[in-house]
Amino acid sequence: MPAFRLGFQDGSQLVLTEAGAKKRAGVWLLTPEEAELELAHLGPEALGLGAERLGEICAGESRRLHSLLRDQRVIAGSGRAWANEILHHAQLSPYALSRELEPDEVSRLATAIDSELTRGLELRERGANDKKTYRVHNKLGEPCYVCGTPIARVDYEEHTVYYCPHCQTGGRVLKDRRLSRLLR
Ligand SMILES: [Zn+2]
Repeated sequence: MPAFRLGFQDGSQLVLTEAGAKKRAGVWLLTPEEAELELAHLGPEALGLGAERLGEICAGESRRLHSLLRDQRVIAGSGRAWANEILHHAQLSPYALSRELEPDEVSRLATAIDSELTRGLELRERGANDKKTYRVHNKLGEPCYVCGTPIARVDYEEHTVYYCPHCQTGGRVLKDRRLSRLLR
């Protein structure tokens, strides 16, 4: 069920849907000047960022990669789900520190950002739903599309990290904080 739908004269449509349980999406009508002010805090667009610029961003502050990719002030355009898809494609741990990446890892990450977001956009334009679009996100226990290892996850209040323990963390299963809190 779309939250918002805008029809254009040529028959095309802008459709806004919000999948999460917490509804936060909104629609505003702004002048170009107001829009510029509203968007001033956003980082550069993720798609087409390139290894050089990404390398500067990674070196700029020491952040866990999943957290860095979710932060719109740092890189705009990739959220929680795409952070999972991108890091899996780049074969990097969600908890790797941005400043500790080797140059080849930065370039793998830049390539993964472009290829995964391009893949996602193409699928979405054809009307694909979440289940068809994501290959790692929300796929707990399903086989990794690269190596067949069951996808694992770590739960947080506001987001969930999904990853392949074989492709991304060298066989290490990351601690599920919610589960360990329950067991304490
Ligand atoms: Zn794998």
